[in-house]
Amino acid sequence: MMDFGKIIDHIYQQLLLEKNLGQVAGYIPELATVDSEKFGVCLINTDNQCFSAGDWQEQFSIQSIVKVVTLSLAYQKLDAQLWQRVGVEPSGTPFNNLSRLESDYGIPRNPFSNAGAIVVCDVLMELFSDPREVVISMLRTLAADDDINFTQAIAASEKSEGYRNMALAYFMKSMGNIKHEVEDVLDFYFDVCSIAVSCEQLARIFMYLAKHGRSADGKYSYLSEGQAKRINAIMLTCGFYDEAGDFAFRVGLPGKSGVGGGIVAVMPGEFSLAVWSPRLNEKGNSYRGLRFLEHFTDATERTIF
Ligand code: GLU
Repeated sequence: MMDFGKIIDHIYQQLLLEKNLGQVAGYIPELATVDSEKFGVCLINTDNQCFSAGDWQEQFSIQSIVKVVTLSLAYQKLDAQLWQRVGVEPSGTPFNNLSRLESDYGIPRNPFSNAGAIVVCDVLMELFSDPREVVISMLRTLAADDDINFTQAIAASEKSEGYRNMALAYFMKSMGNIKHEVEDVLDFYFDVCSIAVSCEQLARIFMYLAKHGRSADGKYSYLSEGQAKRINAIMLTCGFYDEAGDFAFRVGLPGKSGVGGGIVAVMPGEFSLAVWSPRLNEKGNSYRGLRFLEHFTDATERTIF
């Protein structure tokens, strides 16, 4: 059997010797205060074995990674009807791009762009009377850990400067694709992006996508097998801003990144793997996180291709 622990440790040590490049996300002032040299890794396999390195138990801001969970909740309820409000095509543009929305009549290209995730938040507000509670309890249940919370300082920091997201949301409202008050939808969106998780918690949470829709312990079913397949496909094609093609090329796994420096990747039927390193490349993905995952799938040959 492959020694994941040894391989993870080896790549981790190698990367520590290399220069760490990129910048911590600065456009959310509170995120810029994070120690840029943090580096954590955690892999959990379907036998519930855990392999880890570095700052794997330290919490960081989930940011866009939460979009997979909010999408899953909306998809679980609405199934294919959801695609009337948001598409499933990669956009090839940065995550906060505005221009496409005009020609697309306010229907975002995919649920992982900011516009798409804001629509999904609007959908969740329609589906649930307390959507914040639904999101946080899904995360806590999947992680089997109640120590997962919103981070008020980060949400407030984003609310104070989230002008582009406001522009996106008002524009979609004008096109009829946001049903609630824009301020309320954005409050909810910023709150879910502010949730703090560790690599260990993230790897546990994403086991439902490695286990075809079921939680790690098999007790809960969140998505049907067909739905889990489709969410994994959206992660592969749209999970890395306009670097999704490069991620598929270099790493070869479905995954999602966030501007907090986290990346989670899934090998269906085998494992879920979370990495965290706050310095981002120019596309907004964790520089070291990407390098780690590329070396990992090269060394283990565990990839969907
Ligand atoms: N809350 C962030 C924003 O809307 C999420 C960005 C990200 O992680 O991609 O700008």
